Amino acid sequence: MATVHWPEYWNGGRYRTLEQVMRHTAAHLPQAPALIEPSRTTSFGDLDRSTSQAANGLAALGVQPGDRVCYVGPNVRSFFEVIFGASKVGAIPMPLNSRLSVEELTAIIRDAEPVVVFIAPHLAEHGEAFSAIPGVRHVIDWSMLDEWLAQYPATDPGYERLLDDTAMLFYTSGTTGQPKGIELTARNIAVSVAGPMHFIDFAPGSVAYAPVPLFHVAGFGLALMAHLAGAAILLIQVEGTAALRSELIERSVTHAVMVPTVIRDLLNLPGTREIDWSTLRWILYGGAPMPESVLREAAEVIGCDFYQGYGLTETTGGFCLLGPDDHRPNAEAVRRLRSVGRPAPNAEVKIIDVHTGAVLPAGQHGEVCMRGEALMKGYWQRPDLTSQAIDTEGWLHTGDGGEFDDDGYLYLHDRIKDMIVSGGENVYPAEVESALLAHPGVAQVAVVGITSERWGETPVAVVVRAGEGSNAEPTQVSLTDADLAAELVAFTRARLARYKCPSAVYFAGSLPFNANGKLLKHCVREWVSAKANGLTPES
Ligand code: AMP
Repeated sequence: MATVHWPEYWNGGRYRTLEQVMRHTAAHLPQAPALIEPSRTTSFGDLDRSTSQAANGLAALGVQPGDRVCYVGPNVRSFFEVIFGASKVGAIPMPLNSRLSVEELTAIIRDAEPVVVFIAPHLAEHGEAFSAIPGVRHVIDWSMLDEWLAQYPATDPGYERLLDDTAMLFYTSGTTGQPKGIELTARNIAVSVAGPMHFIDFAPGSVAYAPVPLFHVAGFGLALMAHLAGAAILLIQVEGTAALRSELIERSVTHAVMVPTVIRDLLNLPGTREIDWSTLRWILYGGAPMPESVLREAAEVIGCDFYQGYGLTETTGGFCLLGPDDHRPNAEAVRRLRSVGRPAPNAEVKIIDVHTGAVLPAGQHGEVCMRGEALMKGYWQRPDLTSQAIDTEGWLHTGDGGEFDDDGYLYLHDRIKDMIVSGGENVYPAEVESALLAHPGVAQVAVVGITSERWGETPVAVVVRAGEGSNAEPTQVSLTDADLAAELVAFTRARLARYKCPSAVYFAGSLPFNANGKLLKHCVREWVSAKANGLTPES
């Protein structure tokens, strides 16, 4: 078991709630830019006032401490006005992905019963249906927010939440099944922000950018850290990697959060090597495995500090951190580039045997368990699910497979559920994927297990070829007929034990990722199973 307690703490050992962060920065840096939008910059002083207007508006609608307030929309100014406005009256903000279908949104709203729902304009026609959900009293189109806010005074109602009160409700991205509401307390959020604050060199004039959703803990965490440090957050919607690259350079972004697929796409874009990246000081990545080859190339081409976070929404984001120094390893420590770092302050992490529950020593592979102050209060109104996930000693069983090395660095293998058992041997798809990604003909890959009469299960690979168009029709290429497939199998056989090598290779134009950049393995598995059974999959 590894525990690291960094010596210092933030704010003289005091944590701040969301509402206190907003009040504190506005009091100290009222003129500093808080939000930068294409046509408008909002200072911390102005944001403090408009969030107080939102708080008074919500109170006028009858919102009480502990009530939920839902925001469905992208990363725009109203996100902050609603989230911090709700916080200032003690309500529980719950930001949702506006790309969810109306059915998905309805199910979540039914589950959380928010009193007020702020919806994106494209959902206006469903406003009535949302109002009919039990518990919902008001549905407001947030594109009308300025007019709505103007009716209310800008005096802060001054609610002070306790650190152990629920501060936010996030719904998980659900790569494995139904989304669940995750209750995070003010302490959870403060603790998870405290760790990275030690590394981040925010300074006056810093511009933080999260081209990832703010309704996910990683994006929200960056925004909160920027708020705490008095740095500005860039709020720009971009379509495509070329536009993202232009914004990063033209807006002089200094700190960004990205998922590995976006970093890889940036590197694959022609001209990325020729750009002067010196303004970008820091990239935080995480949420999904980062291939070592991409990381090495990013360090060489972009050259900024890299910082990896490994965590779950249930752990309020990263509880293992791989810092900038670990990204500049000497020859001996180079394998650490494959790790997700060491436990963050106040996080205890252990690896257990999935069958016996025994704690495993360094070098042995099992399930990653986490305990600490950043661990969620529980799943919203699901004590049954909470007690399945968190044991009686307070350990969250993450479902991720991993092992520690002797220096306390954690290496993830795979989700326990994704593990393939072939002929009695365990095959970890991430290892096979990593081997295939080293082949220049492979842009993206997913390895899943399918049923095999002979082996029980057998690994198969779904590959997106380098340079492939994203809408190409998937086609299976048999191992004997297709040179590339045969070459890929031979390539893995030269690197991995025979039982780990894919027994079939399918080619696809793209892989299914969710809004947070996570590969939807269950969709890949369904697609491959349908293919293998001679059915025509829908997508
Ligand atoms: P979510 O709660 O949607 O953020 O998903 C959490 C899951 O994302 C974890 O259980 C991991 O499987 C995966 N994940 C998060 N961070 C990393 C990382 N740095 N490397 C690999 N996988 C990660």
